[in-house]
Amino acid sequence: MSFDDLATDLSALAARGLRRQRRLLESAQSARVIVDGRDYVAFCSNDYLGLAADPRLIEAACNGARNAGVGAGASHLILGHTASHQRLEVALAKFVQLPGALLFSTGYMANIGAVTALVGRHDALFSDKLNHASLNDAALLSRANLKRYAHCDLGALERLLAASTAQRKLVITDAVFSMDGDLAPVPQLLDLCDRFDAWLLLDDAHGFGVLGATGGGVLEHFKVASPRIIYMATLGKAAGVAGAFVAASADVIETLIQSARTYIYTTATPPMLSDALLASLDIIARETWRRDLLSQLIMQLKTGLTGLRWQLMTSSTAIQPLIIGGNAEVMRVAAALAERGVLVPAIRPPTVPAGSARLRISLSGAHTSEDVDRLIEALHAVAKAV
Ligand SMILES: *Cc1c(COP(=O)(O)O)cnc(C)c1O
Repeated sequence: MSFDDLATDLSALAARGLRRQRRLLESAQSARVIVDGRDYVAFCSNDYLGLAADPRLIEAACNGARNAGVGAGASHLILGHTASHQRLEVALAKFVQLPGALLFSTGYMANIGAVTALVGRHDALFSDKLNHASLNDAALLSRANLKRYAHCDLGALERLLAASTAQRKLVITDAVFSMDGDLAPVPQLLDLCDRFDAWLLLDDAHGFGVLGATGGGVLEHFKVASPRIIYMATLGKAAGVAGAFVAASADVIETLIQSARTYIYTTATPPMLSDALLASLDIIARETWRRDLLSQLIMQLKTGLTGLRWQLMTSSTAIQPLIIGGNAEVMRVAAALAERGVLVPAIRPPTVPAGSARLRISLSGAHTSEDVDRLIEALHAVAKAV
């Protein structure tokens, strides 16, 4: 048997304008990058606070490696759970004001592990249609009865919850939607969960560190608290490092320790990453200017793009998608921007619905107002040229 089939499929993908290519990043992740040998200003990262290459995080990681080595050497339940992991879990729980927190190696694994540990065959899951791929995969893997509701449609969710006879009901949603940048209506979701006795899992990958006065995320932003909440956030985005955590009541956390397979059957992350994250948490809480700067840049971008032939979606977060429409067209626009030294990722189906290909502009505390001006000017120029 040969791999000719695969080559045929790959050609078909390319013919539809859907074949993806990796670029080679040759500098640290930041607002200014070197890619494939050329300088660019980039609007591509989820490093929303500009911490990925912060010298204090680098120093903490180096010290951590000197103290505890590079590899954890075992899973958490064997002998890989170090003092650094433990300190970080305590700090994270305190940071988001929930009783306990558990570290996972990635956000993808946190979602898979949490959902499959909490619901199974006889339970029901309610999922926003625009949820991240990791929540969708988690839902399928859990084998729970899956009901998907239209994006942020509270009426539809209410009807589904009312009709459910499952004993355990879990609503799962992105808190900040990763490709649209809008917020889930968390207080209203919580009301529905109260009325129908359901749990609420919030994936705050894009809110943690960014939303709320101290960067506490979506819960701080909406000033909500509830024992029904299972909060998940990633640590490779605003926190600038890698990994993820789930924070919730003590019984939820203990259940995950006992039965989340992506927690149990994997090597603990290098403890030096926990040391870097402890430094990061401190910066997130104290350096409020980073969030203020981000808000200013968001306003500047919105103002600067009024009147452009393409429209920004309605988003108040660092994720500012500009809808272009067609796959070939979005690629042309992205290429024309790159020629002008500006990198913005083009997002195509299946990541977003067909016909809504977009430039996913993401802003960061590492950007300056000159960087944003360059993007605005380049977009106006490209809009005239293509
Ligand atoms: C990035 C992301 C994840 C996955 O997190 P990783 O740590 O990168 O695996 C999960 N959910 C959402 C909404 C994300 O944007």
